[in-house]
Amino acid sequence: MTRLSFGLTLIFTAMLLAVPSAKAAEKLGATRILFLTQSKGYVHGSVKRNPQDAGQLAPAEVAMIQLGQQSGLFDCDCTQDAAADFTKENLQNYDIVAFYTTGELPIAAADRDYFVNEWLKTKGHGWIGFHSAADTYRTENPEHSWYWDICGGTFIGHPWGSSRRVTLAVHDPSHAVAQPFGKRFEIQDEIYMYNHWNPDNVRVLMSLDYAGSPTDSTVNAKYGTHVPVAWVRSWGDGKIYFNNLGHRPETWRNPAFMASITQAVKWIRGDIAGDSTPNPEVSRAWEAKSRKDVKEYGFKVENLN
Ligand SMILES: [Zn+2]
Repeated sequence: MTRLSFGLTLIFTAMLLAVPSAKAAEKLGATRILFLTQSKGYVHGSVKRNPQDAGQLAPAEVAMIQLGQQSGLFDCDCTQDAAADFTKENLQNYDIVAFYTTGELPIAAADRDYFVNEWLKTKGHGWIGFHSAADTYRTENPEHSWYWDICGGTFIGHPWGSSRRVTLAVHDPSHAVAQPFGKRFEIQDEIYMYNHWNPDNVRVLMSLDYAGSPTDSTVNAKYGTHVPVAWVRSWGDGKIYFNNLGHRPETWRNPAFMASITQAVKWIRGDIAGDSTPNPEVSRAWEAKSRKDVKEYGFKVENLN
């Protein structure tokens, strides 16, 4: 498909599906998702709307709306305006909030506190972070620590650019949220490394395997060589799922990636089980393996201590 015809297809699809689903959200049993795709830093193509027509949704937004409709599982409203829509009042309309964001978002302190201390701790509620959700509230400001805790990691660089094909190891392929990826998952997408990764808080589901992920770029090992890619955690009675994937618009048509989202929604709702007990032993084992692999496979590494 040419770039132009793909663009036209998206426009057409967006026209069919971009109708705000306020009515549909009232459907009995359908989970209501608020998808925030506001970029206060880098703007990814996956969340870039047509500057000539802000009503025309971006590829990731269209994909989420379609996924909800096709699965019958959820209704997804999309916003690029956190100040207007990420509020205590508006959160009452949703079960799950998903972020594909960058930078420092205009979220008021009172709304943030409500979200962290009440809303997200509620049974059946959840937060899903895609890709550059980890490139949000990144600057080293203690005011941002609430977000680092929820997200689980803060972007420091991407030695695997979007032209790289990487191999991801799935630590527990029987976990509901990880199951669509199988035991090993190969994909062309951009892979981050992180600061503020705390293995004691999260259950890591998937990590980059250096053995199948060559790159010419330098790996910054300042905060470790292990490259976690997807993880879950509990937050009170609420749940969190983060997945690094989603840089490329093509990823939003990847069946495994999309299936992991419906699985995550079911898991957050409580329809299916999925352990969120932290597994720091897995992070430790993969730190050791990764340190060995960067040497064995000749990666360029800096800050390795
Ligand atoms: Zn990216």
